[in-house]
Amino acid sequence: MARTARRTSRSQAREEALARATSVSVPGAADVAVLGGGASGLVAAIAAAEAGARVVVLERDLACGRTILATGNGRCNLANALPKAERYNDPAFVEAVCGDAEGFRHDVLGFFDACGLQTVCEDRGRLYPCSRQASSVREVLLARARRSGAVLAPAREVTAVARGAEGWLVEFAGAGGGVAPGEVRARAVVVSVGGGEGLLTGLGLACAPFVPVLCALACEPEDPRVRLAALDGRRAHVAARLLRDGSEVAREHGEVLFRPYGISGIAAFDLSRLAREGDAVSLCFADGMLAPADLRRLRDAAGSCAGFLDPAIESALAQGGADPLELASDLRLVVRGAAEPERAQVTRGGLRTGQFSTGTLEALGAPGLFACGEALDVDGACGGFNLAWAWKSGLVAGASAAARARLR
Ligand SMILES: Cc1cc2nc3c(=O)[nH]c(=O)nc-3n(C[C@H](O)[C@H](O)[C@H](O)COP(=O)(O)OP(=O)(O)OC[C@H]3O[C@@H](n4cnc5c(N)ncnc54)[C@H](O)[C@@H]3O)c2cc1C
Repeated sequence: MARTARRTSRSQAREEALARATSVSVPGAADVAVLGGGASGLVAAIAAAEAGARVVVLERDLACGRTILATGNGRCNLANALPKAERYNDPAFVEAVCGDAEGFRHDVLGFFDACGLQTVCEDRGRLYPCSRQASSVREVLLARARRSGAVLAPAREVTAVARGAEGWLVEFAGAGGGVAPGEVRARAVVVSVGGGEGLLTGLGLACAPFVPVLCALACEPEDPRVRLAALDGRRAHVAARLLRDGSEVAREHGEVLFRPYGISGIAAFDLSRLAREGDAVSLCFADGMLAPADLRRLRDAAGSCAGFLDPAIESALAQGGADPLELASDLRLVVRGAAEPERAQVTRGGLRTGQFSTGTLEALGAPGLFACGEALDVDGACGGFNLAWAWKSGLVAGASAAARARLR
């Protein structure tokens, strides 16, 4: 009964969203066409429209900004208090676009302050809306976008982008019944379609290969006596080291969640940005703060590892005959690859950054074409770095696209 009611209200909401989308009239000409109305696209649209451009946002989903709702487990970790460029795969490019960490944070928080959003800082500099609701972030962005005069046109999937006489011709298909296909002539376009192949490979620009990152890792224990199935569902705070041919490649502190196929959790997600098949992950429990000698002393004092290890983890590790004390400082897992790649938070790859001006995010060989967010080959660690990049790159691309449109 309850399930039927939920289905009915979902389909009602869909019908209403479709009706709203259908009622939007898409202008045939604009100064700036923003392709994709997710995190970076909404900010680019606001920046361009507030700079005086006539802006239209073409979004394939039934509403703009829906990608924001799933972020940070519905709470939206919207930025980091210390957005250091070294936390990204292309630090030189990120620093050239965003400035130093202080300026980067100032620009992002200043933008949200002007949107009327209050943020709060949690552990490790993670910034959230103080409502702890991702919908707050989406709401203030949609409100500011509407106030700016940008036309938000959901249920329009961009299918082709071509250079025209005075700019760009953008073709779109109507997504969902009732929404007509069409085209927009724009003096400038901002590509903000997010990660993944889709439109990006058809733009005539070079793309780096697409790889899921910030995802769980499929692993096997090096010690055959350890069974991951016995640890399934247990969480631990660890120091996690990624080892390649015995040398440390990366180290993360944070939570791991054991799964039958390997490890999930923030520490595993961060290592997934660098891990390759055949690498080893070494987990040191107790936040990695205690040396083996300290662990032995505590175990001898308590008569078990319960003083520094979740007793359920201790008993699972002991099941096959291994010594939990030995494993507590170095539980080795061999990486087999990305697990559940369809649930990855970010797609690495996309438009190669070397083709873009760092001052404007305009493609060097395609004047009037700008890109931002995950469409560019930029990805960051967990902790608000990816959204921070989406907002800041959206600000740069949107303002520059408006300036380009004025010149044409
Ligand atoms: C589950 C999850 C949780 C996350 N949590 C966090 C977090 O807490 N903090 C953080 O920093 N990052 C987080 N991220 C990453 C973050 O959401 C992305 O890095 C960010 O949204 C990228 O912004 P974007 O504008 O490039 O892409 P998106 O926000 O994905 O927006 C792209 C938009 O383009 C639209 N689109 C695609 N193709 C077309 C087309 N052909 N025509 C028209 N429209 C199109 C899409 O529908 C979408 O609305 C999370 C990601 C996921 C999946």
